[in-house]
Amino acid sequence: MAFKAYISVDMEGVSGLVHRDHVGRDGKDYEFSRRLMTLEANASIEGAFYGGADEVVVNDSHGTQRNLLPEFLDSRAQVITGSPKPQSMMAGLDDSFGAVLCVGYHARAGSQGILDHTISSQAVYDIKINGDSQGEMGLNAGIAAYYGVPIVLLTGDSTATAQAVELVPEI
Ligand SMILES: [Zn+2]
Repeated sequence: MAFKAYISVDMEGVSGLVHRDHVGRDGKDYEFSRRLMTLEANASIEGAFYGGADEVVVNDSHGTQRNLLPEFLDSRAQVITGSPKPQSMMAGLDDSFGAVLCVGYHARAGSQGILDHTISSQAVYDIKINGDSQGEMGLNAGIAAYYGVPIVLLTGDSTATAQAVELVPEI
């Protein structure tokens, strides 16, 4: 059976991106950031194939969810783009996948990470599940767990990765 890897790519946790000017569609450095995001997506696609994936699906998960530059994206991957879409940052994930990779993720709202927030800093101050504060990774881990698919990787700043290890120690 084909081994399918699912990659959810956000933008705030991509290396080198630290400001609203980087990650907002109207930001001065947004076009530069799209290139870095696409390169980081390509690195994760490469890693997934190297790790044994037969198929790789990449979901553009940031903001309007149409940031990745398709002409520079590794053509071996399938890409899901645009919003709104069911399951949002986990659009298209189901139990046919063997692994989830979260790339370019950021820390939850109020936790002092780089560009930390949860979904929308205008609308969401905190989200608790069973009493514990969770960010986007926590919400998406719930969707992945629903389908029985392990999250094997999260990339982002040190606060984001510490929160990932706290939630999924074997990540
Ligand atoms: Zn984002």
